[in-house]
Amino acid sequence: MKKITIAIDGFSSCGKSTMAKELAHQIGYIYIDSGAMYRAVTLYCIENNIIHDGKIDTDKLKEHINDIHISFKLNEQTGKPETYLNGKNVEDRIRTMEISSMVSPVSAIDFVRTALVAQQQEMGKAKGIVMDGRDIGTTVFPDAELKIFVTATPEIRAQRRYNELHEKGENADYEDILSNVIERDYIDQNRKVSPLKKADDALLLDNSNLTHEQQNKWLLEQFHRACETKE
Ligand code: C5P
Repeated sequence: MKKITIAIDGFSSCGKSTMAKELAHQIGYIYIDSGAMYRAVTLYCIENNIIHDGKIDTDKLKEHINDIHISFKLNEQTGKPETYLNGKNVEDRIRTMEISSMVSPVSAIDFVRTALVAQQQEMGKAKGIVMDGRDIGTTVFPDAELKIFVTATPEIRAQRRYNELHEKGENADYEDILSNVIERDYIDQNRKVSPLKKADDALLLDNSNLTHEQQNKWLLEQFHRACETKE
């Protein structure tokens, strides 16, 4: 069977990464979390004093942008891919509230997007890839054979994120998370360069009231349908 490209976009904390990862695993495709790449750039900025007092020194970031190398490696024990920044495993460090609060302004910068989109297109050249993010179906892979746009209410998304952080032992406040979710939605939808929006040919998936199993079944059906159309 010919391999296809699968683009999964949508709002933050919709469970995109979990669904994309599981789908990739089930169908034997490579999974790439593009949000992790923007998070890694944000971590680099914090560690290199490019962000201070919540402000981004864009001139300094521009000088450094070609020194930022992001890759993914499978953790053999968990079977899950992890994010590496310049050779160092940063998977846990990019998931904190500190990074979440700065990642949307960093990802709104045009030269950051140009650099990461080029890397993402390179990763998807051979197809057989599931990539999730905000602009995958519109900008990174506009010709993807299967595009899905995921949404759920802000309250449900904030609750999911709250549960996730608490399970990891991070002490986060629900109201803080909800305002971060709403703020990121706003910045992502209103930025000048590739704003978050549903591609015309993307399928809409509102998973507010879907069980894990229902969602998984639906995704596999869409995958098989897209492969048949391609044949
Ligand atoms: O998917 P995740 O929530 O980890 O992404 C973090 C942030 O990175 C998003 O809120 C968004 O601002 C940015 N992002 C983006 N384009 C992508 C993926 C993520 O702008 N393709």
